[in-house]
Amino acid sequence: MWVHLAVFVCWLVLGGQGQDRASFRRSGDRNGRCQYTFTVDSPVESSCRSSIGGPEAENLSARLTLLEAVVSRVLGAEGLTEAAREAADVQETRRLVQDKEQLDRQVQELRRRVEELTMETEKLREKPCPLVQADPTDGFGVMKGSGPVTNGEFQELKAELSELPAPAKVRENVQNNTGLEKSGCGELVSVGEPETHQKAESITGKYGMWFQDPVATGRPYGPNTVWRINAVGKDVKELYAYENLEQLARGFPMKVVVLPEPVESTGATVYRGYLYYQQRRSPTLLRFDLASEKIVARKDLPQAGFHGKYPYSWGGYTDIDLAVDEQGLWAIYSTDKAGGAIVLSQLDPESLEVIRSWKTNVRKNKVANAFMICGRLYTVASYSTNTTTVNYTFDTASGKSKMLDVPFHNRYRYNSMIDYNYAKKKLFAWDNFHMVTYEVKLGGF
Ligand code: CA
Repeated sequence: MWVHLAVFVCWLVLGGQGQDRASFRRSGDRNGRCQYTFTVDSPVESSCRSSIGGPEAENLSARLTLLEAVVSRVLGAEGLTEAAREAADVQETRRLVQDKEQLDRQVQELRRRVEELTMETEKLREKPCPLVQADPTDGFGVMKGSGPVTNGEFQELKAELSELPAPAKVRENVQNNTGLEKSGCGELVSVGEPETHQKAESITGKYGMWFQDPVATGRPYGPNTVWRINAVGKDVKELYAYENLEQLARGFPMKVVVLPEPVESTGATVYRGYLYYQQRRSPTLLRFDLASEKIVARKDLPQAGFHGKYPYSWGGYTDIDLAVDEQGLWAIYSTDKAGGAIVLSQLDPESLEVIRSWKTNVRKNKVANAFMICGRLYTVASYSTNTTTVNYTFDTASGKSKMLDVPFHNRYRYNSMIDYNYAKKKLFAWDNFHMVTYEVKLGGF
C-alpha cells in the first residue's frame, strides 16, 4: 500500500516536468507480485550518461577509421603481385648497374689522369726545377740582378793585390810535394777561349758549379759523367747527373741526387767518386759518396771564415773554395789570423783533415776566383770584366808567389765558379747561367 502511495506521489511530483516524456508500466513478476515501472527522460539529454555513444563513441569511431586506413594500406601493399615486385627489383638492379658503370668510367679516367701526371712529374724531374726564393739577397749575400755586384763589400776587382807576409807552413811535418807531381805538370801559360756547353734554364742557375771527376771510379759513374748544381737559393740540395756533355747540352739529366745537407756557395768539387762540399752556414766540409749517396766524412775546416766573412770579390758566400789537382784535394779560404789573405790547405781526401797549410800574400776579397794546377794556386782578377787576367800564382813547392798576366775571357761577364780538371786539362766555369770550359796550356816542364 505504501509502495503504491510513493509511486503515485513521485508521479505527481515529476509529472509536471516530465509530462509527455514519462511513461508508466505495471506488470507481474514470477512470484505473482505487482511490479510498477516508470521511465522519465532527463531534462538535459546530453547529461544522461550512456554506455554507448557521445564523445567516447566519436573518439572510438575516429580511431577505428584510422585503423581501417592503415589496414587498407597494409592490405594494399600485400596485394602487390609478385610480378610487380620483380619488375621493381629489375628496375633497381638496372639503376645500380648504371651507377656502377659510371663509377667504373670515372675510375678509369682517374687512373689515366694519374698516369699522365706521373709521366709529367718524371719529365719535370729530368729538368732542373726552379727553387723558391724569398731572400732578397738570393741566399748568397748578393742582391738579385743580372749585372755586377755593386755592394761595397764585394766591389769589382781592380786587379789589385795586397802584399802580406811571406807564406808560413802550419805544420812541422811539411812534405816536399815536388816528387808528387805527375808528368805533364807545369806553370800556366795560357787560357783558351771559353766553350759554352749549356745555359741554365732558370734564375736558380745564375750562379752554380759543374764538374767531371778527374779520377772517376766507374762505380757506377765514369769519367764522362757531368755533375751540376744550380747554386742560387737558400736550401741548395739538388745535384744533377748527366751521362755526358752531350746530354748536358740537351738538358737531359740521368739522375737528380738530393744531398742530405744544403750546399754553401760554389766551392764544391768532385774527386774519386765523391762530392766534396761546404755545408751551408758552417765551416764544415762534407765528403758525399756518389755511389751510396751518403755522407761518409765531415770535418770543420779549422779557423775558416764562412758565410760572407772572407768571400771572393763577387760575394756569394764564397768563403771556402775546394779544388782538385794532380796532387789531391785543396781548400782555398781565409782566417782571422791570416787577416783576409788566402790560406791554402791540402786536405786528406778520406778524413778531410788538414795535411798542410800556407798563407799567401793575396787578399781573398780582391780576386774573383781561384783554382789549383800542379800544386800551384792561381787567381783570376775579375769576375765581370770581359777581358781580365789570371793575375797571381802561388807555388806550394817553393812557397813563392808571383804576379801573372795571362788573359782570361769572361764571355758572359759574371763568373761565379772556376775549377780545374786535370784529366781534361780544362778549366770548368759557370759564367752568368752558362757552363763553359777553357783549354789551358802549361809550360816549363
Ligand atoms: Ca774555384
